Amino acid sequence: MRTLITNGTIVTADGSTAADVLIDGETIAAIGAGLAGLTAADETIDATGRYVIPGGIDVHTHMELPFGGTAAKDTFETGTRAAAFGGTTTIVDFAVQSRGKSLREGLDAWHAKAQGNAVADYGFHMIMSDVNDATLAEMDGLVAEGVPDFKLFTAYPGVFFSDDGAIFRAMKQTAKNGGLIMMHAENGPAIDVIAAETFEAGISDPIGHGLARYSVLEGEATNRVIRLAEAARVPVYIVHLSAREALNAVRQARDEGLPAFAETCPQYLFLSLEDLGNGFNGAKFVCSPPLRPKDHWDDLWRGLIKDDLQVVSTDHCPFDFHGQKELGRGDFRKVPNGLPGVEDRMDLLHDGGVVGGRISRERWVEITSTAPAKLFGMYPKKGAVAVGSDADLVIYDPNRKRTISAKTHHMNVDYSCYEGRSVQGCSDIVMSRGSVIVRDGAFTGRRGHGRFVKRGTADFARLA
Ligand SMILES: [Zn+2]
Repeated sequence: MRTLITNGTIVTADGSTAADVLIDGETIAAIGAGLAGLTAADETIDATGRYVIPGGIDVHTHMELPFGGTAAKDTFETGTRAAAFGGTTTIVDFAVQSRGKSLREGLDAWHAKAQGNAVADYGFHMIMSDVNDATLAEMDGLVAEGVPDFKLFTAYPGVFFSDDGAIFRAMKQTAKNGGLIMMHAENGPAIDVIAAETFEAGISDPIGHGLARYSVLEGEATNRVIRLAEAARVPVYIVHLSAREALNAVRQARDEGLPAFAETCPQYLFLSLEDLGNGFNGAKFVCSPPLRPKDHWDDLWRGLIKDDLQVVSTDHCPFDFHGQKELGRGDFRKVPNGLPGVEDRMDLLHDGGVVGGRISRERWVEITSTAPAKLFGMYPKKGAVAVGSDADLVIYDPNRKRTISAKTHHMNVDYSCYEGRSVQGCSDIVMSRGSVIVRDGAFTGRRGHGRFVKRGTADFARLA
């Protein structure tokens, strides 16, 4: 099967150019002007007036994650399909090591959830709940089989929390095996004290979640884990950075030349602490770190502009409002943490970033696709429009407007955080390894098309 995309504007992290793209099988075979006259194709797609971009890469999702006595609702089938509708063709999800079990058991469980179900490609990071001699020894093997990143938490005591010694041991191991440490950086033990005080003071609604998780405690933990990584001589990647104080810690480390990296998420750029108000309705917006006051937004955008933040991913972790978020009625500490978002990331960032005049379209592609591909060992197979790269391509209309709504989204969840918001920019055609999987609002892909992406080590992080 040969597909030719003509008359589009190819937009990559490096620049924009008017050229045709020839796809042969699963990969890009040629790029150049006037290919239509030179070669025969089974299908020709006219991309006049539209961009041709590398498919989005969301390196932070939680499909079917068990959390807080329930589980995130999207499966690998529904989640990757929703991602595809939004122009994201690769996800990297977090496999979980449960306390007392091996990393292997956790990874095998996630392979079983995804294999034969995903409609587009996927990889895994590994969440480490225990750091001990056995799990440390397992890390090297996971790196070798294409799962080279390990996420640890300074939050959630009793669940995912690791103390500084455990984090440091895992960091020293990745310094030897070429992997990358990802950190959820909030001071969980201190937050639990404040959350208990907040609840005892009579605040039981979801706003208490936002009030208790002080941004200074995100800044403190971010600085702490960066300094632990400095001592272990290893790169570190801060997930879902939400607060100015945390960004300041990352910026300072980068100014010192340390290999510190960070992502933020659309919810920290477009939603705020105010959304956590409005009684129990705020439960729709409970995630950790929490939504911050609006005056953090400009700092985060500046971080993206100046490359102190390299990536925007979603932390997609959807729970229905009815029946799941409601587990926290009467106690904000019991609301399952997580928001749906995998479908809307590309359009929100195009609208707020490119149309909003904050970043170039090239930077938009970089933070949503190319930088995650590089940092997470997938480049240039993914994240590029180049000869030999996987034909994960999106024909993107930068002018078409749509209104975000739970009535029309494809995520398996009963609400949208962005209900009624109008965005400019929309995916028209989405391809995964040469196959059209979304065309003009209809799913044309196939369950099981998605393959596990065996990823390389974080060489870009080490050279940066
Ligand atoms: Zn997460």
